[in-house]
Amino acid sequence: MYDVIVVGGGIIGCSVAWQLSKLEKKVLVIERTDVASGSAGATDGVVGYHTKKPGVQLDLAVQSIEMFKTLGQELGMDVEYELNAGGLQPVEDKEQWDMLSAMVEEQRKSGVDIRMISAEEACAIEPNLSKDIYGALYSPTSGKVNPLNLTVAYARAAKKLGAEIMTNTEVTGFIIEDGRCKGVMTSKGEFRADAVVNACGSWAGKVAKLAGLDLPIKPRKGQLAVTEPIGPYLKATVQCARYNVIKFRPETIKDQTVLKLGASLSIEQTENGGLIIGGTREFVDYEGENTFEGIEAMMQRAVRFFPALKDVSVIRFFSGFRPYTPDGLSLMGEVKTLPGFYMAAGHEGDGIALSPITGKLMAELIVYGKCSYDISDFSPNRFLTEEG
Ligand SMILES: Cc1cc2nc3c(=O)[nH]c(=O)nc-3n(C[C@H](O)[C@H](O)[C@H](O)COP(=O)(O)OP(=O)(O)OC[C@H]3O[C@@H](n4cnc5c(N)ncnc54)[C@H](O)[C@@H]3O)c2cc1C
Repeated sequence: MYDVIVVGGGIIGCSVAWQLSKLEKKVLVIERTDVASGSAGATDGVVGYHTKKPGVQLDLAVQSIEMFKTLGQELGMDVEYELNAGGLQPVEDKEQWDMLSAMVEEQRKSGVDIRMISAEEACAIEPNLSKDIYGALYSPTSGKVNPLNLTVAYARAAKKLGAEIMTNTEVTGFIIEDGRCKGVMTSKGEFRADAVVNACGSWAGKVAKLAGLDLPIKPRKGQLAVTEPIGPYLKATVQCARYNVIKFRPETIKDQTVLKLGASLSIEQTENGGLIIGGTREFVDYEGENTFEGIEAMMQRAVRFFPALKDVSVIRFFSGFRPYTPDGLSLMGEVKTLPGFYMAAGHEGDGIALSPITGKLMAELIVYGKCSYDISDFSPNRFLTEEG
């Protein structure tokens, strides 16, 4: 018998497990394959303010990013969190400039330093950036982290405090008695607990269905390329302005191919010198193959903004799934029609950055019945129909 069973050993599940263990709960994490085998192992690691939806999501990110300052130290592992030159989004024309300026105005209401800067200022921050830009969005205090290290660090820290992590075990159903969730059925038998957390990322909708719940989380594929290591090239994390437009104002995109692929650019340089290039957002169910059109779109964007990259070799392609929700907010909280069943999923392209606060608030909610920060806007109950 456990206090809490966390389903899913991704960055969210491991963060929740660590925080629950800190509150002295007996925790079991059940993971279908291995820790960090989902999105956390197929992502870049932007920990930024400027890529967050203005309003409650950015407010939450502010709380989360504050936690990154001491996270590595607390977890006892180097998670490669660094600010370097911040976050930059080069803008191509006046239309994008106006759209991002309006978003920035909204984002600044959360008290964060995000500003629009000139092309000259942007090129002074990133000298390899093409001069053929209209200007840029700049977020000097946005940083990056190594998402794999961070997930493993959460898992190890949770284990040190007594949590058990069971890998290669699939949750196939839930034990529901007297209208309450009392545990899980798995490929290795049944396990009981006072509370169960669904932290299955892009699969969380499917897993919720096993408990008879209809929650609209679906996979949104992102393709990624890794280049050969090169010398110091890029200090900031960079997305083209279209990245934020596709995320927050997709209705303004007229080109149907761009819209279908969600084709933009996201680029950062890792510790070993390789560049991670990404920037697609596609609804193709769980089809994880890299496609020629996706890669081509990303590469064209990369060379558009960083012309010298045309001579750099790509050594690896892969893809991951962002857990998409219709309103862009994650699902955090207890399902009112099924006491004992909690959701911690649906963080779309922001789950790495939001992992510290998600773990903390979910643990508080489960242990104390309320949290230190109001997460009612993220309640899974907003999606429940009359039937539940
Ligand atoms: C291309 C790309 C780029 C991204 N860039 C960023 C970024 O720069 N910054 C950022 O903050 N976020 C980014 N994200 C988003 C981030 O990766 C996700 O939001 C985050 O990883 C979600 O974590 P999770 O733990 O919810 O899901 P996952 O990491 O996917 O974990 C879910 C786990 O549940 C397990 N599971 C599923 N079904 C079952 C079952 N039945 N039984 C047991 N276990 C099960 C899976 O095996 C998986 O390990 C990006 C994502 C992608 C794809």
